[in-house]
Amino acid sequence: MPVRMILFNHHTHSSFCDGTSDPEAYIKEAIKLGFVSLGFSSHAPVPFENNFALHDDRCNDYKTTIRELQRKYEDQIEINLALEIDYIPNMTRDFSFYRKEMGLDYTIGGVHLIRKEGASEGLWFIDGPRIESYDEGLQTLFHNDIQAGVKAYYHTVCEMVTTQKPDIIAHLDKIKMHNQNRYFKEDEKWYTDLVDETLAVVEEAGCIVEINTRGIYKKRCPDLFPSLSILKKLHKRKVPITISSDTHAPEELILGMDIARKTAREAGYKEIFRFSQGLWWPEEIE
Ligand SMILES: [Zn+2]
Ligand SMILES: [Zn+2]
Repeated sequence: MPVRMILFNHHTHSSFCDGTSDPEAYIKEAIKLGFVSLGFSSHAPVPFENNFALHDDRCNDYKTTIRELQRKYEDQIEINLALEIDYIPNMTRDFSFYRKEMGLDYTIGGVHLIRKEGASEGLWFIDGPRIESYDEGLQTLFHNDIQAGVKAYYHTVCEMVTTQKPDIIAHLDKIKMHNQNRYFKEDEKWYTDLVDETLAVVEEAGCIVEINTRGIYKKRCPDLFPSLSILKKLHKRKVPITISSDTHAPEELILGMDIARKTAREAGYKEIFRFSQGLWWPEEIE
């Protein structure tokens, strides 16, 4: 039986943050590919010097640009306005600030920078192309105590979920990306316990978890975020999912979506969620 392919993506980075192209280039590509909707999700501003996030003084321009494109292309594709918002305790703004100030359609919550629990400074950057920055941060902030570092990651995710209630949780097990089975294996009990604790919090909050394909097509990780073992547990808990390419370039829009659908089905899922006209709707994947 052919797989029914409804194509959409809620996680898109353009030149307003660290993406390569202006938003319209992604829209044109999405239409060409037959997407029914496309959501833009620039990295929300963070209060320190950086080259990846939207700047405070461009928030209004971002909002206006996406809303104008939404109107311009409404007959061809549904466009939505969102942000991927970092959560760093006592540092980043509450998600409600952006929901209200920018009238977002939805929010994606993501942890890329980890503060050691109880510390007032220092951040462990677990994302990006450089494996060295992962190793350096683990060494500097956690004295190579991988369990303390990973625990700080999942506890930050849990705190983000309970205090900020994002619609979508980005790349739930991103912490594994630069691990590459060097510091820990994903079947170690301390790790699966931390994951289980996190999944209970996610289930309780009612967030959607994305299957994020970026690690695969950037060849930074052999696995999807999250891993199949976690997806199976999410399915048992009836946690809704969606599929995102976390694209940073128009040509990445559709990458990995086939394998993500296949993996979702393998985990037991029959539907993925799509945002449309202000609500989340299930779409069959088989
Ligand atoms: Zn992210
Ligand atoms: Zn992203």
